[in-house]
Amino acid sequence: MNAIVKQHLIDPEICIRCGTCEETCPIDAVTHNDDNYVVDAEKCNYCMDCIAPCPTGSIDNWRVVNTPYSLDEQFSWEELPEQEDIATDEGAAATMEALEDEISALLAEAHKGTGGKPVAPASAAKPSVNLYSRSKPAIATVQGNLRLTEEGTGNDVRHIVLDLGDTVFPVLEGQSIGIIPPGEDAGGKPQGVRLYSVASARDGERPNTNNLSLTVKREEVGVCSNYLCDLKRGDKVQVTGPFGATFLIPEDPAVKLVMICTGTGSAPFRAFTERRRRTMPSVKGGLTLFFGARRPEELPYFGPLKKVPPQLMTQHLCYSRVPDAPKEYVQDRMLTCADELSALLKDDGTHVFICGLKGMETGVDESFASICRQSDLDWSAVKTAMRESGRYHVETY
Ligand code: NAP
Repeated sequence: MNAIVKQHLIDPEICIRCGTCEETCPIDAVTHNDDNYVVDAEKCNYCMDCIAPCPTGSIDNWRVVNTPYSLDEQFSWEELPEQEDIATDEGAAATMEALEDEISALLAEAHKGTGGKPVAPASAAKPSVNLYSRSKPAIATVQGNLRLTEEGTGNDVRHIVLDLGDTVFPVLEGQSIGIIPPGEDAGGKPQGVRLYSVASARDGERPNTNNLSLTVKREEVGVCSNYLCDLKRGDKVQVTGPFGATFLIPEDPAVKLVMICTGTGSAPFRAFTERRRRTMPSVKGGLTLFFGARRPEELPYFGPLKKVPPQLMTQHLCYSRVPDAPKEYVQDRMLTCADELSALLKDDGTHVFICGLKGMETGVDESFASICRQSDLDWSAVKTAMRESGRYHVETY
């Protein structure tokens, strides 16, 4: 018999195939095929680096085994196998107990987010996660599907409202949900789950309604985006989640939020703004938004944003494709606001949230570094301290 091991596995029913685990793993123990993301038991050294960044928690699964499941076995799974009965002579039982203790301690560290991994804001409410899965989805009814960008711009971004009816589906601002598009993929398997940030506040599109909204851009070959953008009122949609335990709005009214986004990455910030507006209308100057789009006509929520009072939020709307105007990205505008941003970075109450295109991450980072150099701050140290105290959050795809 092989030695007993506690094998690290990924739950294929909850995993949304975002690839964060594979990107994070420092020793390439995580791999994937067209079906599943899996962990190679021969390589995994239990460093737990992949645990905190996983947006769904599907990475946090374990089975005590005599013989580890092979990669091929894991690739073939549609659900995790049950824990097998393991021989429980005295020696084996003691080994199992020791393994349980060791892994629990490592996981506790990983979930604390030490070592620069994501940590929730100290004042964030406790989120519910993974209440509904691919095998047990919630069913929502489409309540509305509104185009947010001007007709004829070629950039079709939708505000989609999903009514949860009597289903208990608690979400916090900053969390995401999964959508299961109908039909099968090219390999004849059910379509996988796609993730979208919730764009509404926790108490619904309007206060005290059991619904939520999404911001979805139609992509030319996007299976799920086209499915969602074509939905009509009354259509039923299979929903999983909620997901995400760290990119969450802080509840402390003294906290200042710097929100930096491109395109549909604005979804969580619409939720943040609504939450602040509903619960802290008298708080002045707490929100600063840097929002990049091609043109005003293609900026999601352009109309509603114009109505947000300047006392509630300072807005920096930046455009990259306005005819006869210089191209401006969010990171360019940040440089022109160096004094304002360095004052915010010096304030221990400031939280930075970045959401949108993967490509913006480097540019935003370089702008923060440049702003810090001008004001005798060390960006690398500031960022680490902010991360470790749950004040720096990035969600880019
Ligand atoms: P987009 O329309 O393609 O771009 C928005 C703006 O960002 C454009 O002005 C674009 O400029 C600019 N941009 C391009 N590269 C940039 C860079 N390196 N740095 C800064 N700005 C840059 O955006 P989108 O298609 O809506 O994409 C939004 C992203 O957010 C997607 O990756 C999506 O997956 C992600 N996201 C979506 C959600 C959601 O719930 N829907 C949630 C979280 C994140 P040019 O094109 O003119 O260069």
